[in-house]
Parts: sequence; C-alpha cells; structure tokens
Amino acid sequence: MKAVRMVEPGKPLELQEIPIPSAGEEGVLVRVRAAGICHSDAHYRAGQSSMGMIPITLGHEVAGEVEWIGSKVTNVKAGERVCLHYNLSCGECYYCKSGNEQFCTTVKMIGHHIDGGYAEYIAVPARNAIPLPDEIPFEEGATLMCASATAFHALRRGRVKDGETVAVFGVGGLGLSAIQLAKALGAIDVYAVDIKSDKLELASEYGAIPINASRMDAVEEIRRLTKGRGVDVALEMIGLQATMKQTIDSLGILGRAVIVGLSQTPLEIHPYQTLIGYEAEIIGSNDHLLEELPLLIEMARQKTLDTSRVVSQKILLDAGKINQRLDDLEAYTDDVRAVIVQQG
Ligand SMILES: [Zn+2]
Ligand SMILES: [Zn+2]
Repeated sequence: MKAVRMVEPGKPLELQEIPIPSAGEEGVLVRVRAAGICHSDAHYRAGQSSMGMIPITLGHEVAGEVEWIGSKVTNVKAGERVCLHYNLSCGECYYCKSGNEQFCTTVKMIGHHIDGGYAEYIAVPARNAIPLPDEIPFEEGATLMCASATAFHALRRGRVKDGETVAVFGVGGLGLSAIQLAKALGAIDVYAVDIKSDKLELASEYGAIPINASRMDAVEEIRRLTKGRGVDVALEMIGLQATMKQTIDSLGILGRAVIVGLSQTPLEIHPYQTLIGYEAEIIGSNDHLLEELPLLIEMARQKTLDTSRVVSQKILLDAGKINQRLDDLEAYTDDVRAVIVQQG
C-alpha cells in the first residue's frame, strides 16, 4: 500500500510502498478515507518530538471504513464507518484502570509512536474504532478526533455547569469547538477572546460574545461584561504566558482556569490575590479520553457541534502536497485545515 512517511527528522515526508498492516484477533484493519493534517505533525516532521520509530507513517486524525475484523471483535463490523481514537492504551495499568487512560504507562499514539493514517490502511485495536454516523463526513469525523475532543475534555476538566459563564482565549480549531461545546454543556454566556476580527466574527456566529484583545484589555472587558464578577471557567488555548495570565485574571470567585495551550515559559502568580482570595483553581488539561468520544460524535451528528466549517482544504495522499501543507503550518501562514481524503 501507499504511505506518506517520515524517513528522517527534519526532512520532507516521503511516499513509500509498504505492506498492508495486519490486525490481530482483537484488532481491526481500516481503509483510511480521511486523515487530518495537524499542527503537531509539523512538529514531528521537524524532529521536535521523539518518535516511537523511524521511518513512521504520520497522521493521528483518522476516519475510514472497517475492512477486516479479528475473530474476537464485537464492537464494529466489516464495512462500518469508523473514526479512530489515537491513543492506544493497555487497559491494565493503574491509570487505565482508574479511568485516566491518556496517562497509560505504555500509551502509544498513532502517527507518533506507531504508524498512522497518512496511508491507505491502518490497523488498530478494535476498541479504538468508534462508529461514525452517516451524517458526519469522513473528513469531519477525522478532525473531531483531535481538536474538538481536546476542547471537550478541557471543558469537562473545568466542570462547566448550567448557567455558568465561560471565557475562551484563542479562537482557533480548539476555541471554536470549545465555544459550541460550552454552550451545549449549559454555559449561559461564552466570551471569545482573540486578536483577529475574522475569527471573532466566526465565534459570534456560534453564539459567543467577541472580545478583541488587540483593541482593549480583555480582562477589564470581561470584568465589565460580568458586572465585576469575572467568569466561572476560563480556557487558555494559545500557549502564551500573557494569555495564561489573562485567563487566570478573568476568573471570578470559585473560578476554574483550564490551561490547554502548551508553553515552557514559567508562569508567576500571586498566591493570595490569584488563588486563595478567590478559592480559584488552575487546572491542566491533557488530551482526552476514549469514553468522551461517543458523546462528542453524537453532538456532531445532532449539529450541537457544527463541524461543517472546520475543513477548508481536501488533498490527495501525495507527499508533495502534504509537505506543502506542513510547511504552511510551520510558517503559520494561514489557518487552513487540510485533510487527506481517499475515495472508495
Ligand atoms: Zn491533531
Ligand atoms: Zn495502561
């Protein structure tokens, strides 16, 4: 089969002809129909993350059709449409058993530690294949598996409840999902903070109250709009020290700040003014859980979460085109969300 693979860190991906992978008795072989090109893939290609093997097929946002099932598989059938949870966990270790499988001591991520979806076929354990309803196109199902799932987990970490207020810092793929999902979870007002007016316009179309941080102090504006109270939950989706500070500063009494954006820069806080005086919480959110995906998919099927505007470009399984998209992501030249699609 054809697979577009990372052969050497820092070099363009290459198209290779490799054997179709085999799935065991508890596994499934999936014919890939869509594979999202994610910002993480640009980091992997650049050699900024240690990979489980080299060469490796990238691609962790995958949807397709079940081609073959192992003899012990009961959750999906051959021919069924599925999307794939990208973390393969053991199900046996302390973290798996306590419901936190993203911390599995032997977790393997597809397209990072083992071969991913920039290929014609992929083999995964059957439990990682989740039925994808006909109403959701493959390419939208694929992108649900990364940004939307991460946004959903972050809101669950923030324990968003009915009638609460939420601020979302950063209106990219994560932020747009977070805005819609916060509303679905019962948030009464969702504030969207960004510096780009076109993104804020999109956020307002999804019911958020836009705050343009290039024109005003976002924290002051949130305080003003919440009559001085601050928000119950604030999500940081960017990974900058300044926006993390704003996220925390926009909290009200008993507020929860959920940090999702990655950063290596230390963050300074004032223990009394920031935490103790407010009984506030700063919460880290890492990845998502398999158990969260069926509900997320159902919300997409019911259009509570609109995924129709996520994918802006479809490309073929072509090394040149994929490398070009990764170059663009690396250069931050635009926010085009590209997905590799393969027809049946
Ligand atoms: Zn991704
Ligand atoms: Zn485990």
